[in-house]
Amino acid sequence: MKILVLNAGSSSLKYALYETTPEAAASDSDRLVSEGLIERVTEMKDALREAFDELTPLLKGEVIAGVGHRVVHGGSFPGAMVIDAAVEQAIDELSALAPLHNPRSLAAYRAARAHVPDAVHVAVFDTAFHQTMPQHAYAYAIPPRFLEEKKIRRYGFHGISHRSVALRFAKLQGKSPEDFRVIICHLGNGCSVCAVDRGRSVDTSMGFTPLEGLVMGARSGDMDASALLHLIIREGEDPAALLQMLNNESGMKAISGISNDMRDVLSAADSGNERARFAVDAFCYRAKKFIGAYLAAMNGADALIFTAGIGENSAAVRAGICAGLDSLGIALDAELNSAKLPGARPIGNSAIPVWVVPTEEQVTIARDTLGCIHSR
Ligand code: ADP
Repeated sequence: MKILVLNAGSSSLKYALYETTPEAAASDSDRLVSEGLIERVTEMKDALREAFDELTPLLKGEVIAGVGHRVVHGGSFPGAMVIDAAVEQAIDELSALAPLHNPRSLAAYRAARAHVPDAVHVAVFDTAFHQTMPQHAYAYAIPPRFLEEKKIRRYGFHGISHRSVALRFAKLQGKSPEDFRVIICHLGNGCSVCAVDRGRSVDTSMGFTPLEGLVMGARSGDMDASALLHLIIREGEDPAALLQMLNNESGMKAISGISNDMRDVLSAADSGNERARFAVDAFCYRAKKFIGAYLAAMNGADALIFTAGIGENSAAVRAGICAGLDSLGIALDAELNSAKLPGARPIGNSAIPVWVVPTEEQVTIARDTLGCIHSR
């Protein structure tokens, strides 16, 4: 059957059409029929019309059975959900917690439903995988009423990616995710590290929103909340402008003064640009600290895994992060790390093996959608 995957970003729409069945999904033989990226999207309904114009001839009259929507914030949903009126309302309410993301997903859902009203529409959440975090990992150390009444807690994101990578790694070993403790570094425009203990997320670096944790392309990651309150209370800065600054004007973009794109920053650092070098060092150092933290959280690990745009492609960043971790059992093989090979591969045969495993977000969304259709 045909499953359409939609991933609505802040100004883009990624789509992918799969031909799959439960048997194909179980044996990794689902087929990608077509995929596309529409950029500079202002109205989701125009982007969806463009996507359907591309896809309709490829369907040759076959219906789209399901549409899987990537939804960044799923609150306390522990897994994918068929979107009915109650789920739609919940996603809408969660827009307050993810104003940059959830409204776009909802707009994409509503536009897609107009095109394929008879398909089963499924929300696949980035937060769901992290619902297994224990309270000592997800609760902030503030009075409990903020958790109970305002839902202020760590949710974690990139869950679809972390789950797909943990599963792929286990399959490559001929085992199940329950057999491993892995630390996964998802390093893309957004970046997060996740501790996956026997298939369950037990901690991750992003928190209440995708802002917490690592230095990212344009996001600051961790900083002392009171510095921001100082700017608001004592310096009269506008809170909304600060939120925009932290999410869009910070991270590598701010500290390098060059770009939020790691390729640009790395090439400037290679040409001797001091700020670019400092930015790369800051990026690697923050990631390294989280790896150390999660080794402690899980009393070790069976693998360290890199994924996403930077994690899969940048030998230099992987080397920067792993440098000086040999006393913790992590060391890269310089030759394996720098080999430009596609696909999953080991890049360090240390006591804790180091791997690159490409993220499989799209096909995971398609499979979750298929799973929801079959369990209805
Ligand atoms: P998104 O989070 O939007 O899905 P990606 O996972 O595609 O993003 O990652 C984008 C990041 O990956 C960018 O910073 C880009 O510079 C970086 N990247 C892609 N290829 C390389 C490469 N060969 N070397 C270094 N960085 C790379």
